[in-house]
Amino acid sequence: MNIIVCVKAVPGSTEVKMDPATNTIVRDGGASVINPFDAAALEVALRLKDDAVRQGLPCRVAVLSMGIPTTAELLRDCIARGADDALLLSDRDFAGADTLATTYALACGVRRLGGADLVLCGKLAVDGDTAQIGPELAGALDAPCIAGVTEVLEVASGRVCARREVDGGAAVAEAPLPAVLTVSKDAAQLRMASIAGVMAAEGARIEVLSARQAGADPARIGRAGSPTQVVRSFVPKADASGIPIEGSVDEQADAVAALLKEMGI
Ligand code: FAD
Repeated sequence: MNIIVCVKAVPGSTEVKMDPATNTIVRDGGASVINPFDAAALEVALRLKDDAVRQGLPCRVAVLSMGIPTTAELLRDCIARGADDALLLSDRDFAGADTLATTYALACGVRRLGGADLVLCGKLAVDGDTAQIGPELAGALDAPCIAGVTEVLEVASGRVCARREVDGGAAVAEAPLPAVLTVSKDAAQLRMASIAGVMAAEGARIEVLSARQAGADPARIGRAGSPTQVVRSFVPKADASGIPIEGSVDEQADAVAALLKEMGI
């Protein structure tokens, strides 16, 4: 079984800096960490690999990222924790991507890695926060998607069965392989790296590909391939005083409705 885990580098602090000229996140400043949802996805993949190894079955886990050159060190950390291969898509031409262009680039990466039985994404990235990439990637790869996975119950006979979170409860879903799963943050806690893992990772080769090397169409990546643009980003003004609403439940509901109407909502 081949598993690919999409790993995004996200700002390591809550102080996210924006470039006022381009309205984009400044990604080459402070330290980055593995998106917490992707850490959970990686652990889910490593547990599937552990199971396969116990049964004497071959299984490889590759990590895939689109990001700036220093993202290679996060991928190296993933290898220290048990991943076998790593591919970083890094090129100025990938910059400014919206989710469609990001998905296209990641789909190129999946193909460069030779495809996979399972592609795992985090359910969402804590900076972009759209939760679009996993389902979009499934569309790009023409594969089914199970979103919000909390536990992989079984991978057998060309199918994956997983428990997923739904509003107010849980559901079990099944899909034929190859499939894309988006993984919930609480699905698993990423294991620590072993000393042997750290030593192996030190000498591991992290493959870094430019857009051209990845076989990406220049018109479909980065800003050029992004049909959406951020027009303006800003921190909303907080009004500490608030508006006290009193009265019966009906009166309070009417007051809220009137306020929303006043705000044009
Ligand atoms: P989500 O969909 O929330 O992430 C889900 C999962 O997808 C992650 O957990 C991870 O597994 C995977 N994933 C996501 N991104 C990556 C990645 N890069 N590598 C590997 N795996 C990944 N950003 C800019 O820097 N410049 C811009 O100009 C810009 N413009 C944007 C315009 C719009 C309209 C929007 C909506 C976003 C824009 N962004 C821009 C942000 C950019 O789209 C996101 O960083 C990127 O598309 C991933 O989306 P997300 O963070 O919402 O991921």
